[in-house]
Amino acid sequence: MNISKTNLPRVVIIGGGFGGISLAKKLLKEKVQTVLIDKHNYHTFQPLLYQVSTSGLEPDSIAYPLRKIIRASDRGYFRMAEVTKIDPEKKIIESNIGELTYDYLVIATGSKTNFFGNESIEKNGMWMKTVPHALNIRSLILENLEQAVITKDPKKRKALLNFVIAGAGPTGVELSGAIAELRNHIVSKDYPDLDPSEMEIHLVEGMDRVLPPMSEKSSRKAAKFLEELGVQLHLNTQVKSYDGNLVLTNTSKNFETQTFIWSAGVTGAPVQGLKASALIEKANRYEVNSFNQINGYDTIFAIGDIAVMESEEYPKGHPMVAQPAIQQGKHLAKNIHNILGNKKLEPFGYFDKGTMATVGRNRAVVDLGKFNFGGFFAWFVWMFVHLWFLIGFRNRLVTFFNWVYNYVNYDKAARLIIRPFKENQKQSKSDKAL
Ligand SMILES: Cc1cc2nc3c(=O)[nH]c(=O)nc-3n(C[C@H](O)[C@H](O)[C@H](O)COP(=O)(O)OP(=O)(O)OC[C@H]3O[C@@H](n4cnc5c(N)ncnc54)[C@H](O)[C@@H]3O)c2cc1C
Repeated sequence: MNISKTNLPRVVIIGGGFGGISLAKKLLKEKVQTVLIDKHNYHTFQPLLYQVSTSGLEPDSIAYPLRKIIRASDRGYFRMAEVTKIDPEKKIIESNIGELTYDYLVIATGSKTNFFGNESIEKNGMWMKTVPHALNIRSLILENLEQAVITKDPKKRKALLNFVIAGAGPTGVELSGAIAELRNHIVSKDYPDLDPSEMEIHLVEGMDRVLPPMSEKSSRKAAKFLEELGVQLHLNTQVKSYDGNLVLTNTSKNFETQTFIWSAGVTGAPVQGLKASALIEKANRYEVNSFNQINGYDTIFAIGDIAVMESEEYPKGHPMVAQPAIQQGKHLAKNIHNILGNKKLEPFGYFDKGTMATVGRNRAVVDLGKFNFGGFFAWFVWMFVHLWFLIGFRNRLVTFFNWVYNYVNYDKAARLIIRPFKENQKQSKSDKAL
């Protein structure tokens, strides 16, 4: 990888997500050589991916160059590479651009979409984890609208105008709300040849309520907001398959659609090479102790989505959201400092800052400890928090400007088919695997 070994200890971080960058930023101030590796050369702010896929924001508003973070110190290095294997005996990682030794290794590789072994959904459906995924969804939505305009066959047009999302967690709720707003405010203006009422958005959820991780009150409010926007909710309904045209469920409800988005599960994205006992098999995530050390290893750590730190308060580990990753990254930097100074390690304690989800313009729900609220104020809080946590001043400014513009004009600026999905489906499908 062309990184010279110095007399400083080398800390290699795999993954420049929320956990990886919060750790790297702190380590760059320490007397260590920090090497950050990611398969993309940018950090993705995943909570706003749905706005990229529904034409609300351009990708460069929610992505941030990793080199810009690393350049803060001449002891920091970034390599764009996919790590394929770890050899803990030799303390080496292998990647598609070569090998690298480490003194301390931090795995912050996050999670990936879980299809629960359903090949038809993986082959024919869409999902959203990266910027290319979001751009594929955006192109597909817009291409389907264009095709619907010229399709005379009512059955085919219906399939082009039916949008089906599986999974009513935050991603599914936010995505279906945003598609409904696209219909309510844009389709009616941009596509005068289409009847917006023909465009249906179906949100399918296996459980008996939307936003299952949130309070029942927020869940009820979110369901009400979705209904106000015209999203059709199908609770207690599980998607069984999708052949590229027909979504089959376990009930009598089946949907003909050209746009099926799967947002019903995630699983860990571990790297090969560690002992089987390091992984919690069912979750595909590493078992870590309260210092983020992976079970059976002193110098290999895991943080964020890929780590399960069981405690009395969190018997199944922390929720797979941004805050545990950010807080664990910062905390691990302190513990690496402690290791180097021969000091005692400090156990991690999670500070829950609350959960929120937005359903659309003026509509969001927030759970803050025992308090929960919804509506305009919650939406305002949601916007403020997301702007605050976006990486980079430029991204905050551009996103803020876009939101104000969209709010005032009932418009979405980014509805461009730059890289068609359908015509390049072969290439786009390989992007999907990124
Ligand atoms: C669509 C969507 C919406 C979400 N909305 C919210 C929300 O509203 N609020 C919230 O708190 N959380 C939300 N989350 C969850 C949140 O984004 C994750 O919990 C958080 O990103 C976890 O951080 P992480 O650092 O563990 O992993 P990630 O941020 O996923 O980062 C992992 C990084 O590792 C890299 N990587 C993976 N494998 C390799 C490899 N082998 N070699 C090199 N690089 C590798 C990836 O490219 C990536 O950059 C959302 C997630 C998604 C997908």
